[in-house]
Amino acid sequence: MSDTLVVAEHRRGELEDISYELITAGRELADAMDGDLHVAVINGDVDSHAEQLDRDGVDTIHTVDYGKGFNHDVYTQAVTELADSLSPRTVLIPHTATGMDYAPAVANALDNPLVTDAIDLQYDEELTVAREMYSSKLESVIATDSTQAVVTVRPAEWPPTESDGSAAIDAFEAEIDEAAITSTVTGFEETVGGDIDISEADFIVSVGRGIEDEENLELIERLCDVTGATLAASRPICDNEWLSKGRQVGQSGKDVTPDVYVAIGISGAVQHVSGMKNSERIVAINNDSTAPIFDIADYGIVGDLFEVVPALIEEVE
Ligand SMILES: Cc1cc2nc3c(=O)[nH]c(=O)nc-3n(C[C@H](O)[C@H](O)[C@H](O)COP(=O)(O)OP(=O)(O)OC[C@H]3O[C@@H](n4cnc5c(N)ncnc54)[C@H](O)[C@@H]3O)c2cc1C
Repeated sequence: MSDTLVVAEHRRGELEDISYELITAGRELADAMDGDLHVAVINGDVDSHAEQLDRDGVDTIHTVDYGKGFNHDVYTQAVTELADSLSPRTVLIPHTATGMDYAPAVANALDNPLVTDAIDLQYDEELTVAREMYSSKLESVIATDSTQAVVTVRPAEWPPTESDGSAAIDAFEAEIDEAAITSTVTGFEETVGGDIDISEADFIVSVGRGIEDEENLELIERLCDVTGATLAASRPICDNEWLSKGRQVGQSGKDVTPDVYVAIGISGAVQHVSGMKNSERIVAINNDSTAPIFDIADYGIVGDLFEVVPALIEEVE
């Protein structure tokens, strides 16, 4: 019997979706190991966060109240202390900018192996972690035979746990060494072009190089207006600065998991697909019937976007 510890993530007072996804992943793992699922929430409004994290399958929520928001040294010390105290078989941390900031330090402090960017976790006497390599062309499966491992988990790979739970709440008194706090987060600034968080959108219309010209984007914006969709794009559109970098979907952009993803004039390169393949329904509009995007599309329209999109707008209007 071995336990699992997951670390929740919050930003500017709000828990991030990955926290609930980690509960799903952590519960599956804890079941496979016949153990408990512990959730840690560090800093911020820990009581309110704990209430929200009380989802089905969580056994205990440990709160650490040592400041307002993220701090590398506090997180590293708190997670390390919790892992020392609970001895979980696995520590799951979000594979996000924040998680990747402290996960290596936690693994180092615990003298654990670190496996990053997990897309699948299995336990059968040993923990195996699947991760993608070479722009998702290869999947590698890593077995950890140590007694404890730290794993960062890719967002949007597990569904979030939604139903309420009845977890015990433990205010964990972490003995944070003040002298070891060598950095302070002084503020939070949106990156340039961070006008919208496409990773939270339920309905995305995404545009690619097939649009040909910046002025033609107006057509796609009209489609977004009439359907209420969020506008996103493939990398060339953002590289051209026709849309902000924050709207880029893919390996060097954002991962999205909307209910509907409409790819217009996008070929379906692996680097793009890696960011949107977990969408519930994929619709592709492309004039090349052999475009790889059709391999993953649920619905496809082979046609000229300059004819198809106006027809769609008219139909919706
Ligand atoms: C390290 C690395 C990271 C990368 N990260 C990303 C990333 O995060 N996101 C990303 O998107 N890309 C990324 N790329 C780039 C990626 O490899 C592709 O070059 C890019 O996704 C192609 O964008 P596209 O599909 O819009 O353009 P193209 O591949 O040029 O496809 C345009 C498509 O539009 C279709 N088309 C043309 N005219 C019309 C028309 N009139 N009507 C309908 N269809 C039409 C064409 O048939 C074609 O399929 C990355 C590349 C590298 C090397």
